[in-house]
Amino acid sequence: MLEAVHVPPLSLAAYATHAGDDAIEEIVRLAEPLRGARVLHVNATKFGGGVAEILPTLTALMRDAGLDAEWRIIPGDDAFYSVTKALHNGLQGAEVRLEERMRRTFEDANRHFAEAFEGDYDFVVIHDPQPAAIRRHLPQAGGRWIWRCHIDLTAANPDVWGFLRPSVEAYDAAIFTLADYVQPDLDLDTVAYIPPSIDPLSPKNATLDPHLADDVVYRFGVDPHRPLLLQVSRFDPWKDPIGVIDSYRAVKREIPEVQLALIGSMATDDPEGWKIYKDVLRYAGQDEDLLVLTNLDGVGSLEVNAFQRSSEVVIQKSLREGFGLTVSEALWKGIPVVAGRVGGIPIQLGNTGGRLVTTVDEATAACLELLRDPGLRHSLGLGGRERVRRHFLSTRNLRDYLALFNALQAGDRALVPAGIGMDGVALDHG
Ligand code: UDP
Repeated sequence: MLEAVHVPPLSLAAYATHAGDDAIEEIVRLAEPLRGARVLHVNATKFGGGVAEILPTLTALMRDAGLDAEWRIIPGDDAFYSVTKALHNGLQGAEVRLEERMRRTFEDANRHFAEAFEGDYDFVVIHDPQPAAIRRHLPQAGGRWIWRCHIDLTAANPDVWGFLRPSVEAYDAAIFTLADYVQPDLDLDTVAYIPPSIDPLSPKNATLDPHLADDVVYRFGVDPHRPLLLQVSRFDPWKDPIGVIDSYRAVKREIPEVQLALIGSMATDDPEGWKIYKDVLRYAGQDEDLLVLTNLDGVGSLEVNAFQRSSEVVIQKSLREGFGLTVSEALWKGIPVVAGRVGGIPIQLGNTGGRLVTTVDEATAACLELLRDPGLRHSLGLGGRERVRRHFLSTRNLRDYLALFNALQAGDRALVPAGIGMDGVALDHG
């Protein structure tokens, strides 16, 4: 039996304040034909990273909408997760060689997960590559099986994708955040484009008194009266923490009072994290205006909320990014973002919200521009918040899942969700 994750209840009605009554009514209408449907989400970890952030809310709201939803995790070990981290890196474009031993580790573990799989479901949603091969090992299992990819596949390493492809093609449908991520040789009838979402009512994103936010960051060593730059990310080279420090140092030459906080959590499925954390600490050196903090220092969701609200600018200088929830989290709080022009980040900013950058120099220039112009920060923040409200709240994500379930149930591809494009218009689905 795969381990079940406890999901505290949520009430859909409470989301009307932000999402609007129409959005809730649409969800109720889409949920009606799915009443009682048994839904299972499976992923690798209950803590750390974007997927573990999304699933509690999505599962709880599906339940409140009348579906019988569950969330379970796979029992991977370090050897398995170092293979899946290599898979992840390869899918994001790194030069990795998948040796025979690694392929076997992946296969054996997924066969083991498939053996542990119990129960009958109407819809099984398998998240990301780690458990992706379960379906291939359970071809007779009933229900519709959906693979949900959260990774930036724009420059996927062909060998690594070639290894994963047969597992993905065993599904009835796949969900990608962007149409750009779909590999040209993927042979699958139904492909939906559904961007992820943030929960506006969670401790991470709920309204917080600005004074309380300042009090919280003060206790971690931030001076709330001086400007703060922040990046919140797992310790991962794709998040470019070294580039963020370089940029902060360049900004500090112009604005000496600036501070930087790098906040990162350790995910159980990311064995590389500790090494990168130590590298970042070493690179940060002795600078009392540069804080490197983790969940192990007591930085949980509420503290992340406080840090995001107390920042002048939130940075997300990713080099690849499936979506980057931290961008929407900051924008939702009205904080402008300086972020990598990669993956799922541009659709979050649209033509408001902040600045897209590629190089350290561009990040520096954008931070300086925003730090020097409170009016600009305010207007970009406001625009970003409204964009997140319209496109990136949990209710929109839930609606898209329900639309996909209905489409699969009806066998009607015209109903498959098609996401939003860079300019906010609907994309065609292929
Ligand atoms: N996060 C956190 N504490 C940390 C680092 C990250 O709570 O120290 C959260 C962050 O707020 C976001 C999620 O982890 O909700 C990371 O999701 P994102 O999509 O940005 O990146 P991923 O880790 O999935 O690549």
